[in-house]
Amino acid sequence: MQTADVVIIGGGVIGASVAYHLAARGARDVLVLERGAAPGAGSTGRATGGFRAQFGTEVNVRLSLLSREKLLRFEEETGVDPGFRQVGYLFVASREEELRELVNAQTVQRACGFAEAGEVCVEEVARLNPAWNVEGVAGGVYCPADGFIRPTEIMRGYASAAERLGARFLYGVTVEGARAAEGKVGSLLTSAGEVSAGAFVNAAGAWAGEVARALGADVPVTPLRRQVAVTRPTDILPDGMPMTINVGDGFHLRVRDGRVLLLWPDEPRAGADAFDTSVDEGWLQTVVSKTRARVPCLKDVGIDRAACWAGLYEMSPDRHAILGRAEGLEDLYLVNGSSGHGVMHAPALGQLLAEIILDGAAHTLDTHALRPTRFAEGRPNVGPDLL
Ligand SMILES: Cc1cc2nc3c(=O)[nH]c(=O)nc-3n(C[C@H](O)[C@H](O)[C@H](O)COP(=O)(O)OP(=O)(O)OC[C@H]3O[C@@H](n4cnc5c(N)ncnc54)[C@H](O)[C@@H]3O)c2cc1C
Repeated sequence: MQTADVVIIGGGVIGASVAYHLAARGARDVLVLERGAAPGAGSTGRATGGFRAQFGTEVNVRLSLLSREKLLRFEEETGVDPGFRQVGYLFVASREEELRELVNAQTVQRACGFAEAGEVCVEEVARLNPAWNVEGVAGGVYCPADGFIRPTEIMRGYASAAERLGARFLYGVTVEGARAAEGKVGSLLTSAGEVSAGAFVNAAGAWAGEVARALGADVPVTPLRRQVAVTRPTDILPDGMPMTINVGDGFHLRVRDGRVLLLWPDEPRAGADAFDTSVDEGWLQTVVSKTRARVPCLKDVGIDRAACWAGLYEMSPDRHAILGRAEGLEDLYLVNGSSGHGVMHAPALGQLLAEIILDGAAHTLDTHALRPTRFAEGRPNVGPDLL
């Protein structure tokens, strides 16, 4: 039987961040079990790489601010460039109610000491993104300090730094169950045999609910399929264009590696296979027509169908992370349910979970709002919701 002090289930950006932060704090024997044959098998390899602090709840703003601070010294800390480029995030509203919601979120942001985001008028929207059709636009909000990151580089940076500090990563190992007894996981049953440890971390992303059930716990995380359309190579939009989001329907776009990524969060079709990684033809047609209406200069830029992809968000019921010790299993810790913000919050969540495991509680930030018991208590997070 293999043994470790802490076993982390899932080697995506969050599992890697937890491993690094535990090892950096001196945890001796940290073992990461990842069922993919190589890093990036889950959602991290399918994320587009947006980073923002413009959120509508205090805890999400604070997670972003802590992550931002850590991203700015990431290379120094891990030796890997996280690709953090602060080119801005522009939310555009067509209706007054949408604009009010965006501005309300800024009250929450300012209360956290985050004052870099401001309201912008239609002329400023046109100046910040001249390609955006401002017909019918009421205004927006913009933060120049938001921008982009490289998800797989952040994962690689944390994993390699963790390995240098002694953590072990095993790929191609699936966690299938546990010996759970007397309120503890105790040891895991895996495709590579039994693994016992003093503590276990569920970092299984969109599969966190499934993994929790296999261990005898209940974690309310469900997979939600999200699709990305990719244009053929083009330089029609500048590389430094801010992420631009139409608040009304969630349509947004960014430039990455000489192509434009087009996203629109649709309601998945009834009966659709959440794990299908191809893009639906009907969805693609809708995205193309939204693009023509919102960004007319892209009308002759074709879609590269082979480059399009779908991946999974890891949704929690209130779209906030679930962080802390699991109810009912005292050696199981959760870092789940980031609901599509897991890459940008991975630096903060890894540090905070390491504090919870090693010190009994997080001290860099108050993580009470993320406690796993909030759903059973009937006290989920609420607040202005920015996608
Ligand atoms: C289209 C798209 C765009 C996105 N854009 C952004 C963005 O702009 N910014 C942002 O912050 N986030 C974004 N996200 C969300 C982001 O990808 C996730 O929040 C993040 O990757 C979660 O990291 P993770 O480590 O928890 O999950 P994952 O990367 O999925 O890692 C979990 C790992 O657990 C492994 N695993 C599962 N079950 C088992 C098992 N039984 N045994 C062993 N291993 C197991 C999986 O193989 C997987 O590698 C996007 C997601 C998608 C799909």
